Amino acid sequence: MTLAIVDDVRSLKPAPEPAGLPSLWALNPGEIESMAKEADFNGSAVQLFARIQRIAAWNDDGVDVGKRARLLLDRTDRSLPRVVEEVPSDDGATRMVLLTADGHKIEGVHMPRTHVKTPRTTFCISSQVGCAMGCTFCATGTMGIVRNLSAGEIVGQVLALMRAKGPSTGHELNLVFMGMGEPLHNLEHVARAVEILCDERGIGLSEKRITVSTSGLVPQIERFAQLAVRPLLAVSINAADDATRSRIMPVNRAWNLGVLKKTLEHYPYRRGEKVLLAYVLLHGENDGDDDARRLADFAAGLPANLNLIPLNEHGRTSHKAPDDAWIASFSKRLYDELVLREFRGVLTTRNNRGRDVQGACGQLVQGEAQKRGR
Ligand code: SF4
Repeated sequence: MTLAIVDDVRSLKPAPEPAGLPSLWALNPGEIESMAKEADFNGSAVQLFARIQRIAAWNDDGVDVGKRARLLLDRTDRSLPRVVEEVPSDDGATRMVLLTADGHKIEGVHMPRTHVKTPRTTFCISSQVGCAMGCTFCATGTMGIVRNLSAGEIVGQVLALMRAKGPSTGHELNLVFMGMGEPLHNLEHVARAVEILCDERGIGLSEKRITVSTSGLVPQIERFAQLAVRPLLAVSINAADDATRSRIMPVNRAWNLGVLKKTLEHYPYRRGEKVLLAYVLLHGENDGDDDARRLADFAAGLPANLNLIPLNEHGRTSHKAPDDAWIASFSKRLYDELVLREFRGVLTTRNNRGRDVQGACGQLVQGEAQKRGR
C-alpha cells in the first residue's frame, strides 16, 4: 500500500515498518551473544558477527556461519537485497543499481574512483521504499511512501553492493544516504544500520565517511545531532527564499529557511566538521542572480560546503535543468557572492560526467532504466 504524499509535513506520521523476522544483517555482537546463550551455542559471538559482516569471509553461496550457528540464527531473516539491474552512466564507471528487497525495487549508485592515489568507492543507498516528502523535482517523491527499509535491509544493501561490485573491505568505502527516501524519516533504522556498519569488528566504516542527507526535517536533525555514532549531515536547500522552497519542497511549509538556518547554526559540529548544503538547479526557478545572492546569505556564517547539482531531468517533473553556460555563470555569480560574505567552505558544481545516474536527494530517476533502453 502506498500512502499519500504529505501536504502538511507537521502531520507527517512514522512510515510503515517492514514485517517479518529480525534481519541477520542488523544483529550486533551483544544480540548474537544473547541468542547464543539461549541456544546453548558456545562459540564466539564476535567472531560470528565478523563472519556475517565481512564478505571476504563468505563462500560462493553467501555467508557461511557454520552448522551450529545456523541453528542459532534460524530465528532471523537471512535474505539479502539482490542486485537485479545495472545502468551504466555516460562516464562508463558510475552505475545506477536496482536492487530488490522483499519484492520492492530500491535504487543505489556505485561510484568507483580508481584514478586517484587512494582508490575509493562511494555507494549511494536508499533508506525507504518511496518517500513522503513530495519534492516536486524528484521522481521518488511522486511515489509517496511505501515503507521504511529495516536496518537489516540498509546494511544488506551495502553488503550486496560490496559483493556484486566491490570493494571487499570497508576501508575503501564511502557511503551516502541520498537514494530513495528521507533518511531522517527513518532515523531509528538508519541509526542502527550506521552503528552496525561502523563496528570495527565488522565492516568498520568510519562515521566520517558516511553522509546522511535530509530535506530539512528540523526535529529529526536535532535528534540526529545526539547520535552516539553520527555520520556527516547534508541538507537539500534547493531554494533560498521561502515562497519558492515551499512550492518545490513541502517540508519548508513546516520548517522554513529561518528555522532551518538557526538549527544549523546551533548544530554541535565536531572539530573540522561541515554540513553539506546541496542545491539542485532548476532553470528559471532557482538559478537567477537573486537566487545566488540569497543562497550566499543562507550559507554565510555556517561551517558548510556547497554543492550545485544541475537537475537530472525525468518524465515525472516539468522542471528543467539549466544549460552548461547558465550553470557556469550561476556558479561564478554565487562564488563572488560567497567571497563577499567571507564564506570559508568549498563550492563545487557537479559536472556532466556520470551525472545521469549519480546520487543526490531526488536525483535518482526511478524506473528510468528501462526507458533509456540500456
Ligand atoms: S528529494 Fe529526497 S526528500 Fe524530497 S521527495 Fe525526493 S527522496 Fe524524498
